[in-house]
Amino acid sequence: MERLIFLIVCLGAFAFFFKNIFRLVATICLGRAENRFDNLWSRCGSMFAYGFGQLRVIQKKFGYNHYFLFWGFMTLVLVNFEFLLNGIFPEFSLDFMGVLYVLLKFAADIMSLVVLGCVVLAIARRLFFRPYFIDQTADAFFILCMVGALMIAYFGQHACEIKLGHLEGGMKMPIAWALSNFFSAESAGSLARVFWWIHALVLLFFMNYLPYSKHLHVLTAIPNCFFRSKDMVATVPRLQFKKGEEFGISKVIQFRWKDLLDFMSCTECGRCQEVCPASNTQKTLNPKEMVHQGKVNLFTNSKAVFATRPADMLAPAPKDARMSVPLINGSDKSVSRKAIWDCTTCGACMQVCPVFIEHAPKIVQMRQHLVMEKAEFPEELIALFENSEQRSNPWGIAPSDRAKWAAELNVPMITEGVQAEYLFYVGCAGAFDSRARQVTTALTKILNAAGVSWGILGNEEKCCGDSVRRLGNEYVFDKMAQANIEQLKKYGIKKIITYCPHCYTTLKNDYRQFGADFEVMHHSELISSLIAAGKISPATDSAGRVVIHDSCYLGRYNNIYEQPRAVIKACSGGRAPAEMERCREKSFCCGAGGGRMWMEELDGKRIYLERTQEALRAAPDTIAVACPYCLTMYEDGVKDEKASDRVKVKDIAEIVAASIS
Ligand code: SF4
Ligand code: SF4
Repeated sequence: MERLIFLIVCLGAFAFFFKNIFRLVATICLGRAENRFDNLWSRCGSMFAYGFGQLRVIQKKFGYNHYFLFWGFMTLVLVNFEFLLNGIFPEFSLDFMGVLYVLLKFAADIMSLVVLGCVVLAIARRLFFRPYFIDQTADAFFILCMVGALMIAYFGQHACEIKLGHLEGGMKMPIAWALSNFFSAESAGSLARVFWWIHALVLLFFMNYLPYSKHLHVLTAIPNCFFRSKDMVATVPRLQFKKGEEFGISKVIQFRWKDLLDFMSCTECGRCQEVCPASNTQKTLNPKEMVHQGKVNLFTNSKAVFATRPADMLAPAPKDARMSVPLINGSDKSVSRKAIWDCTTCGACMQVCPVFIEHAPKIVQMRQHLVMEKAEFPEELIALFENSEQRSNPWGIAPSDRAKWAAELNVPMITEGVQAEYLFYVGCAGAFDSRARQVTTALTKILNAAGVSWGILGNEEKCCGDSVRRLGNEYVFDKMAQANIEQLKKYGIKKIITYCPHCYTTLKNDYRQFGADFEVMHHSELISSLIAAGKISPATDSAGRVVIHDSCYLGRYNNIYEQPRAVIKACSGGRAPAEMERCREKSFCCGAGGGRMWMEELDGKRIYLERTQEALRAAPDTIAVACPYCLTMYEDGVKDEKASDRVKVKDIAEIVAASIS
């Protein structure tokens, strides 16, 4: 009779579980198509390294707690498989595995204790030393208590069975064996089945509770690591501007299916919130919340979509599917407009996310909807969009002034027939901004001193469109990118040097979607190679103690960390630059990326101030940057901190130019 009851409970639980799995798969299928089935070997490698190996999880010390919890569970999967089958077929056992079975039972015994320890630690952390980026939720405690109950029931059952002589204890199951001493033969007889049933019911309930809880990631995180983007996502998907299409994303089902899987995979670890410059400076945006809102919005709306076509659940949602809750600014199940505009697209969230959720492209795609469908964007962007489209620079300065800086420098003009190996793509800041023009001049000095074959496009150069794209004006960007590529091809350009990391990433990564394949070099790459080749030899150490800042679009998005450091080292008598607390991959944004350069920063602390204060804590004589936006932000920060008389902000090209004769 007991077996029959368990059989019914077990079948019911598994039927419900697989129904939920099917629903989750169907929900993911609502998203737009995208091929994430390429490079299967490398995807498997990624899944083993980051999903099973938890490589990102253990980048934080407490991540080891999760690591052991995870591996404890993995060890117990086989044992629980035997446990459930054994409940239906009492003769079933995995002992045909021989010595492996003995090892498995031993490992399960030890790992159950490890898991119990991890649960106690996790509860204590949440109660007594909870980091601010971890939410105190009843759900988390409930899950931890369930895991704890599972382990206690496991030990209780095995200890009783050892006491009763049904199981061999000793060193084969040392923990359960030790615990068996706490039971008398009578109590073990009655408690063995009680523990068995507790174990069985908690296990089956836990399995079915997962899809409804914050621990949904137990089911989705490993597939998300498998389907992750191979490299840091440095761009957004290109749009096809077809008549009748809606541009950007206003409904959750307009995301691609991998984005929907992202929403379901969040572990709510809060690491993205911890590193986000917006969250760190009291803005509305919290990337963890944004992902959670995406998940809640998805589950709420998917119900309505399924209700309209119950027989065809595995197809993408129809374009005109009605959503009961809007994705943007509807309620707590939506993302707020403010949050969408707060993002600097710095990528710090994506760099730390243990399950490779891609936040920034989602935010940019929601901006696309607000800009192109609704014309709802911060007022200060009106001028930026108009200037970029009509005058091809953010300030709206006459395009005929673009090459003014070069007038007295005898700069080779590719547009006048000069044959050059490299095009120096000056960029709008380098051409129009008076401070950035000093960097442009410094770079021309270096190029000439090293005998590089180079030239510029003069007044024919146009804005690359970086800010326009990150701000969601994809239509204008599309036109700018196509016109630029056509022009660059017309002049036979193959190799490009940029001084601005935003131009760099746009020409290198974004333009690739439009068929471009230029060899793009950031000036830090070129200068470091010129120094290494002995073409220039920095002699004087003019910058004093230098602290270095990693621009997000240079470091995080394009993995250029060593070259700027090598340049400074060569100019500082072999001394490496000082580092800030948050450096390299962990670098903190200056606040200007993602088009935020052109927007007011009204809420909370200024991001540039937060970063400048960090730089000043390193007691530098010079803050070295390799980006015109960072240059502006740090100069503002140093002024605000009244440190201009003792600390200079310089681009690495200026440091080099000052140290060569
Ligand atoms: S990209 Fe940067 S600013 Fe945007 S959500 Fe991520 S960490 Fe925050
Ligand atoms: S999005 Fe990633 S980093 Fe942020 S809370 Fe979720 S799992 Fe953690």
